[in-house]
Amino acid sequence: MLSYQKISESFFNVNDLSEEIHHNRDLILGDIFREAVLSHQETLLNQDLGGRYQRKQIEAGFACPVCNCRSFTRKGKRQRVYKCVFGKITVFLLQVKCSSCGHRFCPYKDSIGLSYIDRISQGLIARQMDLTCHIPYAKAQNFIRLCLDTAVSPVTVRKAVDRKADQIRSRPVTAKDRVVYEDSTKVKAGDKDRGESIHLAITAKPGYTLNGRPRMWKRFLFLKTGNADVIKESLKSLNAKAIVHDGDMDLTGCAPLIQRCLWHLPRQLKHFLWMDGLDFEARKPYVKELIEALHHSSSVQTMKQGYNKVIGMLTGNNLDHSAVHLKNAFNEVTIVRQNKLPYPTTSPVEREMREINRRADVGVRWSVKGIENLLLVKTYNKFT
Ligand SMILES: [Zn+2]
Repeated sequence: MLSYQKISESFFNVNDLSEEIHHNRDLILGDIFREAVLSHQETLLNQDLGGRYQRKQIEAGFACPVCNCRSFTRKGKRQRVYKCVFGKITVFLLQVKCSSCGHRFCPYKDSIGLSYIDRISQGLIARQMDLTCHIPYAKAQNFIRLCLDTAVSPVTVRKAVDRKADQIRSRPVTAKDRVVYEDSTKVKAGDKDRGESIHLAITAKPGYTLNGRPRMWKRFLFLKTGNADVIKESLKSLNAKAIVHDGDMDLTGCAPLIQRCLWHLPRQLKHFLWMDGLDFEARKPYVKELIEALHHSSSVQTMKQGYNKVIGMLTGNNLDHSAVHLKNAFNEVTIVRQNKLPYPTTSPVEREMREINRRADVGVRWSVKGIENLLLVKTYNKFT
């Protein structure tokens, strides 16, 4: 007898009733579930062994794992606790006994998804894993419990994240004839004081227009930690036509066309001007002049001239760090424009970088593998 029936006798309120049914759904739905699991196995067993009390011996569709014999007798059922979206349910697995060696086993457990390792439903783990991509492991567990009255441990979710990350990594990736946008951000992970760099690469191109706004078509390529050699090798293997990057690494040779992000360049210049000893106000004219050259030039030619003019201003005033910064980037400033490619900045990937920082910055120091796997799954899911 369910407790909601007791409530309905004295005082009836639909909110109480819905809460009560929600709370007891492992009892209510458990019966339906258990019955379905059992009757499915009984149907299979009747096909394999013939009906009960039937003398005729028939060969089963499965074989004894010990002696390979195909003749069996029924041997009752075994209990199994299964955790799923409506709670912990005890289900039954039909058992048989081998006529030749006497070995007992449950022939259908693997095919119906109840093998020894399947004690928790994949649907429950997937829901909690999806939520864990956005909020901390323990919080996700609490929310799932609040909504479903049951949850799995953070350790189980962590293992699922690791498995999913391995799957994502093993898929083939190419960006042939495409423009790749690569950016990196620091996350608090590993032993290094400043943390670890997470590198993200995607392709992007202009998509259709929705409500007058141009949409962007994006595809995920990779997200990983690693030193410059690892990242460069990964970028190279994409076979991209062009790479737009923030300038943290020298990417010469990683693609036929390399473009420096025109948004990062002036911001980085501010930093170098500070290194050259200029105060806040004194930095402004140089930055303004650079932005003018990068974004308001009428042609590639005038863009190069304007850019060189800024280098001249810097050199003339002995601002060496700043001058070298711009000189180093000279060959990568006009590439997108010259080749009529979209987006001369890493803006297609910026939004994802902010999302990455938001999830990673939760006041803990992560393990490098732990944060890489989680962010990989999170970002990949967003793109698919
Ligand atoms: Zn046997």
